[in-house]
Amino acid sequence: MCCCCITILLTFYGAIKFFLGQFSLYFRTALGQHSNHKAQCHLMMRQLLFFAALLPSLLTAQNHQTFKFDGPVILIHGGAGGIERKYYNDEQIAQYDSALQAVLRVGYDMLTYGANGMDVVVECLTMLENDPHFNAGKGAVFNDQGEVELDASIMDGSTKMAGAVAGLKHIKNPAKLAWAVMEETSHVLLIGEGAEEFAKTQDHEFVDNEYFLTPKRKEQYERWKQMKKNGTVGVVVKDVQGNLYAGTSTGGMMGKKYGRVGDVPIIGAGTYADNNGAAVSCTGHGEYYIRNNVAFQVNARMQYQGLTLEQSTREVIFGVLNSDAGNGGLIALDAKGNAAWTFNSSGMFRGAAGSFEGRCTPSFMTEIFGDPTWPEECDVISEE
Ligand code: ASP
Repeated sequence: MCCCCITILLTFYGAIKFFLGQFSLYFRTALGQHSNHKAQCHLMMRQLLFFAALLPSLLTAQNHQTFKFDGPVILIHGGAGGIERKYYNDEQIAQYDSALQAVLRVGYDMLTYGANGMDVVVECLTMLENDPHFNAGKGAVFNDQGEVELDASIMDGSTKMAGAVAGLKHIKNPAKLAWAVMEETSHVLLIGEGAEEFAKTQDHEFVDNEYFLTPKRKEQYERWKQMKKNGTVGVVVKDVQGNLYAGTSTGGMMGKKYGRVGDVPIIGAGTYADNNGAAVSCTGHGEYYIRNNVAFQVNARMQYQGLTLEQSTREVIFGVLNSDAGNGGLIALDAKGNAAWTFNSSGMFRGAAGSFEGRCTPSFMTEIFGDPTWPEECDVISEE
């Protein structure tokens, strides 16, 4: 039996024992059979706290898959969260699928023609930002004032140069501006009006804030207090030179406070790339990713603890993030071609393209929900 099943069985056994104990205690207290009431209350509180601490691990999914690729590779995500089959009809699933496939095809073609990995990251993020299905660029979620504020970042793993923007209201493609911050300034992060002023000195497309607002998001905004909506787009690639690149773009979280900045433009939180570690793009509840420096932690565990990409992504999402009750996931890629997608939510829009060590050459695959159904012949390949 797998470790996961044993953990779940033990947890349920503990929970049942706990509740039976509580019932017996309540009855005995009610019947006056308990003299030391204060001590029993303390015990009950301790048991309750213990059970509450176990709850997050009971409620979060553990979706994790790793692959090994030859040559250039691209992994993308379109956000993680409460993405379950029952919320989508076949037509919607097909739309998400073809949107992800289109991005993979363009990205992988560019890579095989020898394009620089950063060109591929920015081109793919731009496609995802222009697609209203995703929470980035057009189709982004609203802040608590009914406006869209966009964040994005990119990072080059060969030089560790990075660029980021936050709180944009009029830039059609934030990923392009993040790239310009890296290329054209000596800074890493520009925000709000200052970032948009900088954009005027460049060739960037400006739009009214209305452009980003889609009917679907307007309807969601009307009921945002009841909903917990995640979503973001991310790309990690290894180009023909063997260099790693990462980028992420988002509208943030529905109903976020005006001026709130999430993890996406924080280098090390939502995005990180280092040829000696991994290229990582995250999606999920940003505050947890900032506090835990998630993208950098994946790198740090590989570089300083000697963990593999597989071990590191698993520990960071199911260890660090779960213990903090943070929700979300990530895609990651190392210089040897090991790739992972890992998430503790029910689903994550995601896709990968590359050659599986001579098998399935080349493959373009997309997944949405948990428990992935990867084609058998391309199934999980262990790392060296
Ligand atoms: N991480 C993003 C943020 O908190 C949201 C997401 O990935 O869905 O801004």
